[in-house]
This record gives sequence, structure tokens and C-alpha cells, in this order.
Amino acid sequence: MTIIDTHAHVYVQEFDSDLIEMLQRAKDSDIKKILMPAIDSETHNAMLSVEKLNSEFCYSMMGVHPCSIKENYKGELKIAWNFLEQRKFIAVGEIGLDFYWDKTYVKEQIAAFNEQIEWALHFDLPISIHSRDAMDECIQIVAEHQKGKLKGVFHCFSGNAEQAAKAINLGFYLGIGGVLTFKNSGLDKVIVDVPIGNIILETDAPYLAPVPYRGKRNEPAYLQNVIEKLSQIMGMSKEEIAEQTTTNAEKLFVC
Ligand SMILES: [Zn+2]
Repeated sequence: MTIIDTHAHVYVQEFDSDLIEMLQRAKDSDIKKILMPAIDSETHNAMLSVEKLNSEFCYSMMGVHPCSIKENYKGELKIAWNFLEQRKFIAVGEIGLDFYWDKTYVKEQIAAFNEQIEWALHFDLPISIHSRDAMDECIQIVAEHQKGKLKGVFHCFSGNAEQAAKAINLGFYLGIGGVLTFKNSGLDKVIVDVPIGNIILETDAPYLAPVPYRGKRNEPAYLQNVIEKLSQIMGMSKEEIAEQTTTNAEKLFVC
């Protein structure tokens, strides 16, 4: 089987000591591509160097994470924009709204999200959306920009059935990872009714490791545990899950 991890921060310092071995474990676990969402200017160079050393395996997105939107956000946006003008990226991401950690910069987060969606439309790129305690707000902003051209994924989707239906109606994919394996996440009851054609796989490494690694550092190889759980929920074989979600990811990200 071949699998694409559509969201993994494999360039962060948690992987400094064993990056090469970790990427090899991913390859040994049928991962054929890793898509890396950007965070902010503190890590852009680390991401780009992992990509350079692992071309045809690790692919960079570009954007500013909502948790990095602070008083200096216009400078951060400028840096990301300059990168996007210089070369091709696979997506604008990760972008969105996070009202969980800090609500100081809600207005700025909304402005940055809107602006980066406009970039995606300008460059004809998909978006990778980070949404925490802000699903309805994210859906509304996407809807305002959706005139038939915007495409993307609600990364680490953790909404309810109604929100899933709205995201799908907007033509968006749901990014599914380790949370699906958590006891009492309730996500299984939402996902069972989602068409497999709207699901893509992701780890969000180094965060959100699936059971039985929950609480530990996550890495792309652990997608196998997510596939196992998804195959039980959907009543499909692991091979079918891998094939369908890989097809979806390639369609969305053109990678
Ligand atoms: Zn992320």
C-alpha cells in the first residue's frame, strides 16, 4: 500500500536527534509522501532544509499558523508571502483560527486567515486549515471565499456531524489522524457517515500520537494505527482505505 501523511511537522526540534531514522521508519511503513505545514518564520528554514534533503518525499506548505499571529503578524505575513512569490509550494498552510490557547488576537487571526485564503486563490493552491474552538467561524470564513475555486482540508477535523456536512458541502476534505483512535473522542460516530472520498490521512506529528502511542511523540509511521481504526469504522480493508485516501490527497494537493 502507499500512504500520504498530509500534515506532519517533521522539521521541528523534537526530531533533531533521529530525523533520518524516523523518515526511514515512515518509508518502511508505506508512507510515500509527507506534506509539511509551515508554522512561522522561526521554523521556515528548518522546514525548507528538510525538504531539500528529502526531495520527492517531504513537501513544504507555506503560511502563518494562527497561534503565531501576534502584534507583529503583518511582518510574519510578509515573510510567508515573499516565499510564496519565489517558488512553488504544495499549499498555503497551516492557517486558520485558534481560540483555545489565547483570545488576545482574535481580530488579527481573522484578518490573517482571510488574507492567506486570498493568497491561495491567487496562486491556485489548496489550504490546510487549523481550527481549534473555532470550527463554525472557520466554516463561515471559508464559505465567504468559496466561489467555486477554493479547495482545502480541515486539518485534524474534530467537529460534529453538522460541521462535517458543511465542510464537505464546501468541497473540503477532512484530515483524520490519531484523535480517531482516542477512547471517547466521539469522532468515530461522526466519521462513519462521511464519504471516504472526503477523507485524507495525517499525523500532525509530533503531536496527537494514536493509541497505543498516545501521549508520546507522534511520527508518520504511526499512520498505520489510524488506518487500522478507520478500516474498522468504515468496514473497508486497510488497503482500500490507503488507496482511497492517497487518491484524495493527490487530487487535493497535486503532489
Ligand atoms: Zn499542524
